Amino acid sequence: MALTGRLGRHCRGHAAVTLILAAALALLAIQSAGCGALDDLVSGQARMAGHSVALVAADSVAAPVPTETPTPSATPTAAPTATTTSTPTVPTATATVPTRPTDTPTPRATSTPRSIPPGVTPAPFFGGITTSGNPKTRVVALTFDSESASVGKLGDMLDAFRQRDMQATFFVLGIWAERNPQWVRRIVDEGHEIGTHSHTHPDLTKLGDAQVLAELGRSVEAIERASAGRRMPRLLRPPFGAANRRTLDIAAKQGYETIKWNVDPEDWRDSTPAESIVRTVGQKAQPGDIVVMHLHVSKTAESMPAILDALQARGLRSGTISQVLGRKP
Ligand SMILES: [Zn+2]
Repeated sequence: MALTGRLGRHCRGHAAVTLILAAALALLAIQSAGCGALDDLVSGQARMAGHSVALVAADSVAAPVPTETPTPSATPTAAPTATTTSTPTVPTATATVPTRPTDTPTPRATSTPRSIPPGVTPAPFFGGITTSGNPKTRVVALTFDSESASVGKLGDMLDAFRQRDMQATFFVLGIWAERNPQWVRRIVDEGHEIGTHSHTHPDLTKLGDAQVLAELGRSVEAIERASAGRRMPRLLRPPFGAANRRTLDIAAKQGYETIKWNVDPEDWRDSTPAESIVRTVGQKAQPGDIVVMHLHVSKTAESMPAILDALQARGLRSGTISQVLGRKP
């Protein structure tokens, strides 16, 4: 038969073995085999790539081997929980992040509410740098860093979010929180998230370990004091986006996730026109994107109604970091 002929042609030195094995090989329907495969068969170590199923079956016919690895299923397996909200575009997620406390006291770590679209699972906290979220959330995470103690036109900005029932994340300096506790409270009360942008805005990669810890600790203390103990997700936006393995590890050990961005309209530049910010964020940002902007920049605050309306017109909304990572409604 063709198989025998092919084996014979390729492996004349193995003619006798070929005869012995021909019947078994025919049963196994091997499409082709080279000298290496035949030598392996003789020595009982058959493992030729592409033929592993058939060759393994020669050793143990009764034990079928799966031909492909099942892909992990994102299909929800549990009934919706009581935390499911009525907002269809924003999925809920109640799974815990193992290494840090969350707002949800008794989450079902192994189940996912059905309101989460297929494929949306809470992003794990792995101690690296997070630059974007899950595109299936239909959420764009607008984030605002404070660079000093200045408030700028924060009131106008918050009004724009409140009028549209959208949220954002504010990465504030400890010195900003100390100076502006009333604004910290309003941000939190209106459903936004607050993360730390350090205490005094140094480049953390240029500090010693103890100083990095102090920058983190002092800022968090100030934010928590100002927010009257309201628990916030532990998020760090490092000043200048500067992070390295050491600062990431220090932050992670304190339970802080380092969040950067993947969209930067460069709103802090004087040369950036407001229209450009609206275009980059409102018209171009994609679901799952994390956008960096600045809390004190007037044109950013003034552009917020146009940005949020443009997102809404595309079926998107601004949400918090926890939302864009699929961890919270
Ligand atoms: Zn900054």
